[in-house]
Amino acid sequence: RKNSFKPRIFLPHLVASMNQVEETYIMIKPDGVQRGLVGEIISRFEKKGFKLIGLKMYQCPQELAEEHYKDLSSKSFYQKLIEYITSGPVVCMAWEGVGVVASSRKLIGATDPLQAEPGTIRGDLAVQTGRNVVHGSDSPDNGKREIGLWFKEGEVCQWTPAQAPWLRE
Ligand code: ADP
Repeated sequence: RKNSFKPRIFLPHLVASMNQVEETYIMIKPDGVQRGLVGEIISRFEKKGFKLIGLKMYQCPQELAEEHYKDLSSKSFYQKLIEYITSGPVVCMAWEGVGVVASSRKLIGATDPLQAEPGTIRGDLAVQTGRNVVHGSDSPDNGKREIGLWFKEGEVCQWTPAQAPWLRE
């Protein structure tokens, strides 16, 4: 008992170096679909070396949009955000990989596309926060939560890519 005390210190660089395999929920928003960016966006995650474990096109119902963005329900833009996300089909994806949550956020870029670095999805492909083409979970816990929200059981596949030994030693 006496020795069971473990300090809870959050050190992101240590967490990343632990080689944690994580899952994240990535979604191409209706503007990304309408603008023909689906292949381009999937390609960036694929080329990076992450593993696609879930993929579907889906017309998001109002209730799901509200649940997904419930933490933002007090924001002034919330109603418009719900309208935006339900305005047309989205592409839902689950991706797996070491450090995939933080790395995906980097691939996606800042929330405001005008602030997003060139080379990122939003930096290269979008101009406005209200039309920023893609969503990515902001923590491993939210990754799991959102995959559970958007995918039914059996829709997420476990598989071993042939390239696995060429990606990680
Ligand atoms: P991110 O998607 O980068 O994690 P947030 O979680 O802060 O960003 O916001 C969720 C989504 O809400 C954003 O991607 C964007 O579509 C929308 N949003 C955020 N801030 C604004 C804003 N000021 N005006 C309009 N839409 C916004």
